[in-house]
Amino acid sequence: FIYLFNSNITLGKNGVPVAENFRLEQSTIADTVQARQVRVKTLYLSVDPYMRCRMNEDTGSDYLRPWQLAEVADGGGIGVVEESRHDNFTKGDFVTSFTWPWQTVAILDGSLLQKLVPQLVNGRLSYFLGAAGITGLTALLGVREKGHVAAGANQTMVVSGAAGACGSLAGQIGHLEGCSRVVGIAGTDEKCSILVQEMGFDAAINYKKGDVAKQLRELCPGGVDVYFDNVGGDISDTVISQMNQNSHIILCGQISQYNKDVPYPPPLPPDIEKIQKERNITRERFLVLNYMDKQEASVLQLCQWIQEGKLKVRETVVEGLANIGAAFQSMMNGGNVGKQIVSVSK
Ligand code: NAP
Repeated sequence: FIYLFNSNITLGKNGVPVAENFRLEQSTIADTVQARQVRVKTLYLSVDPYMRCRMNEDTGSDYLRPWQLAEVADGGGIGVVEESRHDNFTKGDFVTSFTWPWQTVAILDGSLLQKLVPQLVNGRLSYFLGAAGITGLTALLGVREKGHVAAGANQTMVVSGAAGACGSLAGQIGHLEGCSRVVGIAGTDEKCSILVQEMGFDAAINYKKGDVAKQLRELCPGGVDVYFDNVGGDISDTVISQMNQNSHIILCGQISQYNKDVPYPPPLPPDIEKIQKERNITRERFLVLNYMDKQEASVLQLCQWIQEGKLKVRETVVEGLANIGAAFQSMMNGGNVGKQIVSVSK
């Protein structure tokens, strides 16, 4: 089975994605594996916010290729090698790629694959798409490269999109790296209670309820020193208004703007930009792919924290390739806690 980016529904740059932007088809793959190729069975696929940009003809980023209509969609994936004609892989190896086609079975060029060591994540292979994969790297390297977190400096960190894949890790990493206080912002009471009770956040705010600015003032009495920004828009404007002199924004993502035809990063409203400039708040673009030289050491650090129980991991798992479009839509609408995963086969 293959899953295609669909031609039947027009999305447009300002449209909200729906499950029907994709469609499932049955197809056949080549019966022979060529030299340097492997045949893999897909186990897990990832759905991620950046895919919304791949649904536009112009993705807005040179590193993102738009999905073509009626093309098999692709993204992060994990599978098991069934047959190999590549020296690096043998039958039974677990492998991953950033460009895994949304298919139950595929023949892939071995050079696109990386071998996985399941023991590093206590056998929880799907973690390599989340906490021990790009998501974990984004949280860790975002904090380390742009957060200016210093142990003992009594810093307060705020995380938006806090109960999602990156956010839930970023807040925990903020604590591990030395922040004295971490406050999350998320879309439901249930998410907020998971953040505080399971993930060690000091407090959490449901942005869909009550006055966010007032709650933030109460929960961050010394102001905000580090802001891990996953969402942008009104939530970020509110946080930035309460940031201290010489503080830092980790500009991770702006999901609240992805269904809008605006440039990335979206400019701040003039009054918020004035605050940012007057208070010397850094807001540099962060892209995890620019730090891949640190991938290996960082993944080992993440795996160690996971094994030691210092990094709590949550996943929301949807079963079946047929449901991947719905899983993408749900994640974009807040249906997930932690990493949204699609389990394709066992
Ligand atoms: P995620 O947080 O697991 O899922 C997306 C979450 O965004 C939803 O669960 C929802 O939670 C929240 N959301 C959706 N619409 C929103 C809105 N209008 N306002 C506020 N919150 C909204 O996704 P993720 O994979 O971890 O990605 C998080 C962010 O990191 C995204 O912006 C993504 O683009 C970015 N990212 C950046 C890099 C990089 O290299 N810079 C790498 C990976 C990801 P609620 O229930 O709380 O609304």
